[in-house]
Amino acid sequence: MDLSTDPVVIVGAGPVGLTLAWRLAQAGVPVQVFEAEAEITDQLRASTFHPPTLDMFDEDGITDALIAKGRITPTWQIRMHSTEDRAEFDLSVLADDTAHPYRLQCRQAELSRALLARLPEGTVRFASPVTAVEQDGNGVSVTAGSKSGSETMRASVVVGCDGARSVVREAIGAQWEGGTYPENTILVTTHFPFEDHLSGLSGVNYIWKPGGTYSLLRLPDLWRVSLHPMGDQTPEEALEDASIRAQTVDILPAARDMDIVEKRIYRIHRRVASRYRQGRMFLAGDAAHLNSPKGGMGMNGGVHDAWALADLLIEVAGGAGDDVLDAYERKRRPIARDDIVGQADANRARMNATDPVARQAHLDDLKRIAGDPGLARSFLLRSSMIEGLRRAEGL
Ligand SMILES: Cc1cc2nc3c(=O)[nH]c(=O)nc-3n(C[C@H](O)[C@H](O)[C@H](O)COP(=O)(O)OP(=O)(O)OC[C@H]3O[C@@H](n4cnc5c(N)ncnc54)[C@H](O)[C@@H]3O)c2cc1C
Repeated sequence: MDLSTDPVVIVGAGPVGLTLAWRLAQAGVPVQVFEAEAEITDQLRASTFHPPTLDMFDEDGITDALIAKGRITPTWQIRMHSTEDRAEFDLSVLADDTAHPYRLQCRQAELSRALLARLPEGTVRFASPVTAVEQDGNGVSVTAGSKSGSETMRASVVVGCDGARSVVREAIGAQWEGGTYPENTILVTTHFPFEDHLSGLSGVNYIWKPGGTYSLLRLPDLWRVSLHPMGDQTPEEALEDASIRAQTVDILPAARDMDIVEKRIYRIHRRVASRYRQGRMFLAGDAAHLNSPKGGMGMNGGVHDAWALADLLIEVAGGAGDDVLDAYERKRRPIARDDIVGQADANRARMNATDPVARQAHLDDLKRIAGDPGLARSFLLRSSMIEGLRRAEGL
């Protein structure tokens, strides 16, 4: 496959598409990104960067740029709201496994901005939604809209990094296996100082409260609070400021006048595409897999997809046969199924336990693991996504 005449076309300038574009551009492989939006979007989405992702970006100043905009989080915890009983995991036990033995809490748009700033001018065409992708014997035709109408470009390879509603996934004809969870989640950011009111908080806290759960994730200047609608509230009702405040007062009366900086409500999914490739067309990131945000693995896993695919495309650009590309789905799809979607599903199920006895049993088990350096290291290798990357090497 010749990657030197027509560019590799990437659909979507989210963190995954931009990671792939940056790696290919660095290796001198021609690349063109089409993005539907007019600029990098800064929605309230990923904030957790895991250690191996920080290791990957530890060149060209990218990890340093993220650290400058984020908050290093050496510990995370699962706790019982009413008793403050908690299992706290300390990532310093991973010091021999990673150069970054911590989670970094930083908005995902900061990664996108850092990558965009390092790409050659013109690599990303904004306001250019891709509407059709057609493969033939020696390439792919990609049609994208623009202010001046629509344009068709020839590509050597097309990679769909175009998120949950991927047009490339449709063109590949992959099934979107899995389903959607019943619950809605409300995400709010606030300056309210939870750390002054709840003792012993970590930077990331998953919390059982009577009959439900909430979580608190700390960014440099804000807390991100995740809640669930009460009773049979509609999404619109649940997202009203008065409803959000009623919920936070229920958690903490002192939060009565909490400011609400941003808010959104969303559904969560557990899905994996039935295949990641058809000929010259590939999928990566949310276009290939969707998971519950509990554990913070979707963007990280998508970046790991992009990294693996970049390695293989760079090999092909260097003269290797097309068959090396078969490794992509073989290595990444099982990780998405078992280590990302499966693990996130288990995290969600554990937090969704409502029986106080079952909750306490979970917590006691987690405290036992957190208190034993060997067990804690095994647990954290998995939850920090290091184990999945190591396992993929052997697939
Ligand atoms: C509330 C929340 C919290 C989360 N927290 C975390 C976390 O802490 N850690 C973590 O790892 N993950 C987390 N995630 C998941 C993470 O946000 C996603 O996995 C990540 O954004 C996926 O990146 P992506 O580049 O694959 O897709 P996206 O970020 O969805 O980007 C896709 C891009 O493609 C563009 N696009 C779509 N269709 C087209 C088209 N036809 N033509 C051109 N462009 C197109 C879109 O405009 C978009 O810019 C969270 C998600 C949510 C909702």
